[in-house]
Amino acid sequence: MEEIENTFEQFELNRQLLNAIADAGYTIPTPIQQKTIPLTLQGHDVLGIAQTGTGKTAAYLLPILMKVKYAQGKLPRCLIFAPTRELVIQIDKAVGELAKYTDIRHVALYGGLGPKTQIEAIQAGVDIIVATPGRFMDLYLRGDIGVKDIKIMILDEADKMMDMGFMPQIRSILEVIPTKRQNLLFSATFPEKVERFSFEFLEFPTRVEVSPQATTAETIKQRMFTVPNMQTKINILEYFFKTGEIQKTIIFTRSKDIADKVFEALKGSVVPKEEIRVIHANKGQNTRINSMDAFREDAVKVLVATDVAARGIDIEHVTHVINFDVPLIYEDYVHRIGRTGRANNVGEAITFLTPPEEYHIKKIEKIIRMEILRELIPLDVTIATTPFDENQAMLLEIDNQRKKENPNFKGAFHEKKNPRAAAAKKKALTSGKSGGGSSTKSSSSSGRKYGFSKSNKGFKR
Ligand code: AMP
Repeated sequence: MEEIENTFEQFELNRQLLNAIADAGYTIPTPIQQKTIPLTLQGHDVLGIAQTGTGKTAAYLLPILMKVKYAQGKLPRCLIFAPTRELVIQIDKAVGELAKYTDIRHVALYGGLGPKTQIEAIQAGVDIIVATPGRFMDLYLRGDIGVKDIKIMILDEADKMMDMGFMPQIRSILEVIPTKRQNLLFSATFPEKVERFSFEFLEFPTRVEVSPQATTAETIKQRMFTVPNMQTKINILEYFFKTGEIQKTIIFTRSKDIADKVFEALKGSVVPKEEIRVIHANKGQNTRINSMDAFREDAVKVLVATDVAARGIDIEHVTHVINFDVPLIYEDYVHRIGRTGRANNVGEAITFLTPPEEYHIKKIEKIIRMEILRELIPLDVTIATTPFDENQAMLLEIDNQRKKENPNFKGAFHEKKNPRAAAAKKKALTSGKSGGGSSTKSSSSSGRKYGFSKSNKGFKR
């Protein structure tokens, strides 16, 4: 049998698309494209398990552009949903690039900006809508979007959409659009909730998967450092920048506050002011877009970002991803480190963790089915003293984790924080009624074990 050459020609896409593919510099279809493009062209519903960086966007865009073909009528025929504005903008840009030799009209709908321009674009006539579910539903309810011609619906990053609570909007959308349509669902991970939803959303889907569930790209070197406190995380970061060990970097943090703190600590000290930006939900839409563009164009070298703000960003040649803290939504670890090591470039992911974060990294190691290399804090890094409040907060967190794992665990810490409970317990003990494990003793022992008692002296490098 004649072997089919692995080129885009094999899919019998039209000349306009092939030319755009050539302009984009794609020569060989990626594995997800090889699998998804023919199935979608044949009209199947597809369930795609693929991380960003695998070429999944073009995998679904090329066949749907082939189907939508050219501008027709006023109403949209294809809907693409994604969880964040950044991702919506990015997908819409990819539509623009791949459809550049066609007259297909497309619009990106997302919140954070007034809807006027978006509404005008819809009213002028549109073929493909790329949207966040919230903004789409707002405009639909205002009567600005006609949905009767919808023939294809795509959910991208379905796992994140669920984590972000978009399911009610997605369900409302499914109620109003025609039932006879083709559906595609893409997700970087495939937890049970996505599986359950896929039964609802897809009809006899074909599942395509390019790497086993939640495995991390092979081109990413991963390592981690356990440190006693947040200041030490900052100290290691500063050290890495000073030694030139990290260059083009995204630093992920769990919250806006921490993102701001990290940004302030690095800006102007180890990273020139103009080469670092911070993006999170409190930053205006335009600021976020500008920062991302500047980072993409290399004018900015360091981006400090929260998970939500950075979701799905496609930026090439990131040399390092720093997990300033361990994400509490474990799949985010996979998404975060997927920003580096793209398109076969080698990348590095470095994670910092305080003792309570050990609990979470262990769960992540289970999900990614590998152990992350542990490294010692470099000798030149100053190990800061843990402030009292931070120490207490960490002890409390560890206590809560133990309780979660073992409901019979009485808690080594709570009672100390709660003098009334401690006094009550003391009274019970002296009157001969035992109340369980000794609070003070186990509290200090857990402190010693992790070496982050007030002085931090016991902390091992
Ligand atoms: P995605 O997984 O869709 O976020 O795509 C990741 C990156 O790969 C994007 O920068 C795409 O432009 C690029 N890309 C997609 N398909 C190909 C291909 N066949 N060859 C080379 N690069 C590609």
